[in-house]
Amino acid sequence: MSLIVQKYGGTSVGSAERIKNVARRIAKWSRAGHKVAVVVSAMSGETNRLIDLAKEIQPAPDPRELDVVAATGEQVTIGLLSMGLKAIGVKARSYTGAQVRVLTDSAFTKARILSIDAGKLHADLDSGHVVVVAGFQGEDEHRNITTLGRGGSDTSAVALAAALKADECLIYTDVDGVYTTDPRIVPEARRLRTITFEEMLEMASLGSKVLQIRSVEFAGKYRVRLRVLSSLTDPEMPLELEAASGTLITFEEDTNMEEAAISGIAFTRDEAKITLSSVPDRPGIAYQILGPIADANIDVDMIIQNTGVHGLTDFSFTVHRNEYAKAMDVLNDKVKSHIGATSVVGDAKICKVSVVGIGMRSHVGIASIMFRTLAEEGINIQMISTSEIKISCIVEDKYMELAVRALHKAFGLEQAPSR
Ligand code: ADP
Ligand code: ASP
Ligand code: MG
Repeated sequence: MSLIVQKYGGTSVGSAERIKNVARRIAKWSRAGHKVAVVVSAMSGETNRLIDLAKEIQPAPDPRELDVVAATGEQVTIGLLSMGLKAIGVKARSYTGAQVRVLTDSAFTKARILSIDAGKLHADLDSGHVVVVAGFQGEDEHRNITTLGRGGSDTSAVALAAALKADECLIYTDVDGVYTTDPRIVPEARRLRTITFEEMLEMASLGSKVLQIRSVEFAGKYRVRLRVLSSLTDPEMPLELEAASGTLITFEEDTNMEEAAISGIAFTRDEAKITLSSVPDRPGIAYQILGPIADANIDVDMIIQNTGVHGLTDFSFTVHRNEYAKAMDVLNDKVKSHIGATSVVGDAKICKVSVVGIGMRSHVGIASIMFRTLAEEGINIQMISTSEIKISCIVEDKYMELAVRALHKAFGLEQAPSR
């Protein structure tokens, strides 16, 4: 007998029929003697609907009140799923985040989990109940309702698994695992049987929305065994088969390193590029530009500064698209004339395409394959950044799908699984 946390995303609970199927799947695990704690998202489209509704009332919604509204989606699904379980004879109890003391900081709309009170849940699990907990939500020390950022139910699930010391956290979703890239963009994408935790962290941080990045960070910190699998298979499929399906996030970083250089390709349109032209090339200039950006709480991703010509240089960096307008305001108001730049130019029509793989440590020439592939497609690279296990390029956003498909082919990712 083991203690399992299962998380079901929006599509998986997207209709009454799907909720009933989820209940049947959970019943199978519970009847096999496992203790099951379930985390659910809002029904698909619901969180978007709630946020849009809020924006109709207040175009830039007050963050505290937005969280009060956005958190309601998950409250509906915990109740419905618990009813679905009771209807088929499974003892179940629903809990909001606040009811199980999912304590977060007070950063409304992007709060971080600080702790979860597992005591009450253990008591329920010990008495044979399935507990159904609302994902995406918690409360701060003043009992304000908070939410964890889009896709946050993944993080709720992993945090709950850590708090309960669960044997495994199963993330059920509308794909049957983690693929070499988003199968919606590249139909030839292939499911990975395993992916290392480090690679998953890069994939998630570089745009693969299959897992929220914080959930992967949590899994790494608390060594939570994490598996991504499909919620759309027959709920009655044999439990042993289901338990071994999907993609396992492994901690064995050294295995299979020799086999594939690249494990996956991630991409995102969530960034925007800003360039300050003809700034003086002297010590302190990066600080004078990026200091006020940091003071405004804006995260910077890639940075490029050219070598100065005649004492002048161009300085470019990227920020999240949501913070683009704010960053432009900061530069125009506080930086541009102060440092003597001739212009501040923004470009939101960019995307970032990244190749990821721990095999890069032992394979040379990955960057040149990437650059050659993009060149052959006539795609201009605007910025490049690398780490030990990833290479990212900023390109014009109209080329995103072309770039991803071409790179997927160039690295042979559609071929038979190596791991
Ligand atoms: P859920 O509602 O279950 O949380 P999400 O929509 O958040 O589901 O995440 C699943 C989606 O992630 C898939 O439908 C797929 O389009 C997308 N995705 C992006 N990158 C990948 C990848 N590398 N592997 C699998 N799915 C991916
Ligand atoms: N319902 C929330 C969202 O749509 C959380 C989640 O689905 O993980 O972002
Ligand atoms: Mg998700």
